Formats: sequence, structure tokens, C-alpha cells
Amino acid sequence: MNRRKFLKNVTLSTAGLAAGSTLMSCAEDSKTKKPIIAAKTIGSFPLVIATWDVKNATEAAYNVLEKGGNALDAVEAGCRIEEANEKGQSVGKGGLPDRDGNVTLDACIMDKNGNCGSVVYLQNVTHAITVARNVMENTPHVMLAGKGAEQYAYEIGLKKENLLTEASKKAWEKWKIEAKYKPIINIENHDTIGMLAIDQNGDISGACTTSGLAYKMAGRVGDSPIIGSGLFIDNEIGGCVATGLGEEVVKTVGSFLVVELMRQGKTPQEACEEAIKRIVEKPNSDFKNFQVGYIAIDKQGETGSFAIHQWFSMTKYQDGKNENIQSQFIVKA
Ligand code: ASP
Repeated sequence: MNRRKFLKNVTLSTAGLAAGSTLMSCAEDSKTKKPIIAAKTIGSFPLVIATWDVKNATEAAYNVLEKGGNALDAVEAGCRIEEANEKGQSVGKGGLPDRDGNVTLDACIMDKNGNCGSVVYLQNVTHAITVARNVMENTPHVMLAGKGAEQYAYEIGLKKENLLTEASKKAWEKWKIEAKYKPIINIENHDTIGMLAIDQNGDISGACTTSGLAYKMAGRVGDSPIIGSGLFIDNEIGGCVATGLGEEVVKTVGSFLVVELMRQGKTPQEACEEAIKRIVEKPNSDFKNFQVGYIAIDKQGETGSFAIHQWFSMTKYQDGKNENIQSQFIVKA
């Protein structure tokens, strides 16, 4: 049996199993050709996790999954909740602007077949994640930027909106007095919304959406719309999504790294920890002054999350329970 088929069979036989079940899995060592036997604790499906404390968003996603909907529909539905939430100043409508006062959105989405779509520097449209999904499903491209992305959003029926709310405008005007660009660690209870889901068939999808870092240079794009950095899904292995200082995530291709580490046998927790270590242990890393956090899920429904600093959290909806869980971290306050 080849590896792809083997993993597929394991997946089908484990879909829907109760939390805490133990799966004996057997894969072939590529060098010795001998079977590798591993016992693994598995979680139950469906399941959704998201960066930060976003219970309304995970609830919307879980509602889709509970009715038998697929993981792709679930993550889009979940992200849309936060995009429309004007109180969240780091996603969608109400996001903090760049230094010139423009709110610009980045988002991406990836499905169980490895298809992906993304938008960068999107203006005047709240639901960047829906535009990204349409790029994936209805265009020959993976990424649309700026005016082209905005034009496409109107073509698919999304409306033009002013994304700069009074609250965000006031915050920007206050910032302009000193005009210092200094990303602040955990300034709110959430930043980028990254979401990963496993549906009742055991299939995985993921999405992430953000207005990026407040008061960035005009034109700046972070990790969130870059497949492999802000988000990566491999339906045979698992998925990962990132939040925090995007530049540092891009430099280590963070989400792809986490998924590859899981492929090599690490648990989601161990993989997130290793990916954070790669950032922190770089020569001259300025990690004390920035935050990066990862959440990950594997094919068996096991989850993990880890960050550089305290106060990063993950929301997890599983077995009918929607809870926010504080993440472990490296730097002691
Ligand atoms: N990762 C996002 C970016 O760099 C921001 C964030 O998650 O806080 O644009």
C-alpha cells in the first residue's frame, strides 16, 4: 500500500472517533522499508481552532461543521464574523489603517486538495476572505492584489464600504502626533484571525484574514496572505496558521515549517514550539520586542499552540465545547 493510500485509509477509519481514542498507526520508513508503529491519542471531529479569543467566530464555523458542512465553508464563515466585527481593530471593517490612513486587508484560504487563494492590499471591501476564496475557486490565479483585487470583489457582488471607523480614525490621529512605527505585543485580545477546521469527513481547510500591522508603510504586506507563511494545509498531515509580526513569519516560512515538522513526526504542539524556536534562536533576533504565535492541527484532530510571549491564546470548539485556551510561550514576562 503506498503512503498516500495508507494515510487515506487511516483517516477514513478515524473520522468521527471519540476524543482520547488511541490509534495504532503504521507507516513505512523510506530508507529501511520497515514499518514504523506509532500509538497516537486522537481528537474527535468536527473540530475548529482559531487564533485569539474569538468564540463567536469558532461558533459560526462549528455550526457549519455540525450540520455536516465542509471545513472550507466553516473557516470562511468563521473569518467573516470577525471581518464584520467593527470592534476588532486588526481584521476587516474597523481595522487600524496604515500610516497614511488607508485600511488595507490581507487574507488567504486553502482547501483539502491543496488549492489556495489570496488577496493582498485589498481596500474598501470587508470580506477579504470571501474574495480570497473566489480567487481560489473561480480564477486561474492564486493571488490578486490592490486595485485588481478590489475590482474583482465588486465583480463577485461584494459592496464598497468605508473600512475606517471613527474609533480607528481617532486612534490613527493620536498615533500621528508621534508617528512612531512600533508593533506592540498583544495590544488587543486578538490580531489576525487564523482558523483551521476538520469536518466530519476528516478533511482539513484553513483561512486567515487581517488588516495587518497598524501604521505600517503604505503598500506593506505581511505573512497573512502568503501561503506557507501565514497559512498552510496539507490534508494528509495537518495545518497551521500564524499571527504576530508577519515579517518574522515570512523569513522562516512559518506555517509550512510547522506542517513539515508534523510530517516528520512531531505533534502539533512540538511543531509550533520548534517553529517559534527557529525565530527566537536566530543570531541577533529581536524577539523580546515582537510577538509571533502559531496554532496547528493534525490529521488525527490533535492541536497545539505556542508563542514567543505570554497572552497569546487559541479558541477551540470541539465536542460541543467552545473554549479559549492560553498558549504556552517562551519569554517569561
Ligand atoms: N501577521 C499579521 C501581519 O503581519 C498581523 C498580526 O497577526 O498581528 O500582517
